Amino acid sequence: MNLHEYQGKDILQKYGVRVQRGIVADTPEQAVEAAKKLQAETNTPIWVVKAQIHAGGRGKGKIAGTEQRGVALAKKIEDVETIARNILGNRLITLQTSAEGKVVNKVFVCEDTYYPGDSEPKEFYMSILLDRGKSKNVIMYSPEGGMNIEEVAEKTPHLIFKETIDPTVGLQPFQARKIAFNLGLSGDAVKEMTKFVFALYKAYMESDSAMFEINPVLKTSDNKILAVDAKVTLDDNSLYRHPELAAMRDVTEEDPTEVEAGNFNLNYVKLDGNVGCMVNGAGLAMATMDLIALSGGSPANFLDVGGTADAARVEQAFRIILKDANVKAILVNIFGGIVRCDRVAQGVVDAYKNIGDIPVPVIVRLQGTNAEEAKKIIDESGMKIYSAIEFREAADRVKEVLA
Ligand code: GDP
Ligand code: MN
Repeated sequence: MNLHEYQGKDILQKYGVRVQRGIVADTPEQAVEAAKKLQAETNTPIWVVKAQIHAGGRGKGKIAGTEQRGVALAKKIEDVETIARNILGNRLITLQTSAEGKVVNKVFVCEDTYYPGDSEPKEFYMSILLDRGKSKNVIMYSPEGGMNIEEVAEKTPHLIFKETIDPTVGLQPFQARKIAFNLGLSGDAVKEMTKFVFALYKAYMESDSAMFEINPVLKTSDNKILAVDAKVTLDDNSLYRHPELAAMRDVTEEDPTEVEAGNFNLNYVKLDGNVGCMVNGAGLAMATMDLIALSGGSPANFLDVGGTADAARVEQAFRIILKDANVKAILVNIFGGIVRCDRVAQGVVDAYKNIGDIPVPVIVRLQGTNAEEAKKIIDESGMKIYSAIEFREAADRVKEVLA
């Protein structure tokens, strides 16, 4: 589950990570209030207004049809209002969003942490994530942080460092110092950075996060180290242990069809192809997507209906797949291991009847227990459903109907 910057910084702050402070606002009026309150608390002379969406690249991104950036400095209180008005309710397009961008519902009004006239503010990159190959957490960091990190990774990969953490002993002081030295720090800044890294690692572990990305981590000329941005992804499997974090979910940021599918316990991920797939089991779903690609189509989704492919679930799954206007054919690929194929076949026929008219060809491949009976049920249903038993046969059918 992804969080907004303001939520991520909230978590960091709870663990003693120094952050660029801010107050979140839903309207331009609230943004002005937030700016005044923040000034009273922090003495900040100017503000940074930051669009809150689940995507990065906001600093370079623009509000659709305008020159307004997703992160902008406000030198006067009136500018806070203007920027908030330009951003709120509109679509922000960044390198990490689709071409349409994402509607911004909140802005985060922040203190300016780059003291005007600061001679040496330094932007670093730091992230923590699980290295699945090593089964260990890894801290990735770079002395060249900021908005061009993708370019750094591409052109000067030797400037991206990795520190692997052994989970049995945790982060060690020498590792935190090594990070500080590789970032080119000395003196007090080393001490500040090791404190920062320890607090960050603790926040990552105790919130059961899947990823932290802090870009930039800022060093001011008076050696304060702070998180100016925070991209936090929580581990979905751990949310039951953190009701207060689970409550941070913002469903408006998620694909509405995926949210609906989740409510039915269907494992659905929308993709941009033209063949809808309904499959039981994640492995078979992946193989099915490969097969569709091999036969010249491209999958419109990943959909695992799970072990109980009964009529009700099959119907829900059809309805979800059909919400996608790009779908030109649907391939149902079910292996009858625990479920019997004839029951699934009956489910498909019933679902087809209930939905009424499915406007695209449906190819059903059922294999396993009672596969022959299942094919018979489909063939005799009198509906426009093509049946197949062999995987290849199903793929050829898909190719035919797309041609
Ligand atoms: P992102 O573009 O979505 O990653 O958003 P960030 O939160 O990282 O902000 C983008 C950029 O805005 C940062 O890399 C900074 O260079 C700049 N920025 C953020 N906060 C401040 C600030 O307080 N003062 C100034 N002058 N620039 C800031
Ligand atoms: Mn950033």
